Amino acid sequence: MHVVEAAARPLIGTSWKMNLAPDQARAYVRRLRTQAADDAWGSRTIFVLPPYVDIGVAREELSGSRVLYGAQNVHHADAGAYTGEISAQMLAALGCRIVEVGHSERRRDELETDELIGAKVAAIRRYGMWPLVCVGESGAQHDDGLSMQVVVGQLERIFERTTDEDARSLLVAYEPWWAIGAGATAAPLEHIARLHADIHMWLSERWPGGDQIPVLYGGSVDLSNAAPLLATSGVDGLFVGRAALDPLTFAAICRAGLT
Ligand code: PEP
Repeated sequence: MHVVEAAARPLIGTSWKMNLAPDQARAYVRRLRTQAADDAWGSRTIFVLPPYVDIGVAREELSGSRVLYGAQNVHHADAGAYTGEISAQMLAALGCRIVEVGHSERRRDELETDELIGAKVAAIRRYGMWPLVCVGESGAQHDDGLSMQVVVGQLERIFERTTDEDARSLLVAYEPWWAIGAGATAAPLEHIARLHADIHMWLSERWPGGDQIPVLYGGSVDLSNAAPLLATSGVDGLFVGRAALDPLTFAAICRAGLT
């Protein structure tokens, strides 16, 4: 499966963020793999994005299973004097399929710009992996009615140089910043449907076949809202944080809406 447009929908994934040391990671993926074996997820595409130090564990435990794995970040250069960084070439060598970029925490804490995120997208594509590109607006921008304007600006800058061919292997996650993290609740379904429709429209106007790019929703997804979110127009999958730190809860979210 080289192009993401061939991946079964919905796609449901999690980033563990900076959680789970290798032993805990191994216990997690073993439990998840057991859940995967009972075939309760239909044909859905399921993925986990562990911290870098756990990717070797994911490779050992998940290779050959139906659960894809990847990374939460990458450096934009292929190799060189970049102390502490990890390249796309290294991630591809470990069997990573999906690499997340543009998360609001990295924009906020590491001051990552759309231009840098675009360079990371290019690096990920050079090594045949699928970029999972997070876009979203802050609470203040949302309150000012600027949600789509902000998201379009991000899409335009990030994808300024993305080719038609590379667009066949993109994933986008709409993650309103105000709906992410402790204490937050998921955005209202009408807001999500509107933003997803607008994002799909932008993608389809940007590239031939852009209408095939999956747009996931992320931000306080949990067991109680996963099914209605998946049933929302324009939502091609879910990207889950806190709620998926328990593998059985993540497995249940992966089953959401199936009978
Ligand atoms: C996220 O940070 O991408 C995320 C979706 O987190 P949470 O589910 O914890 O809101």
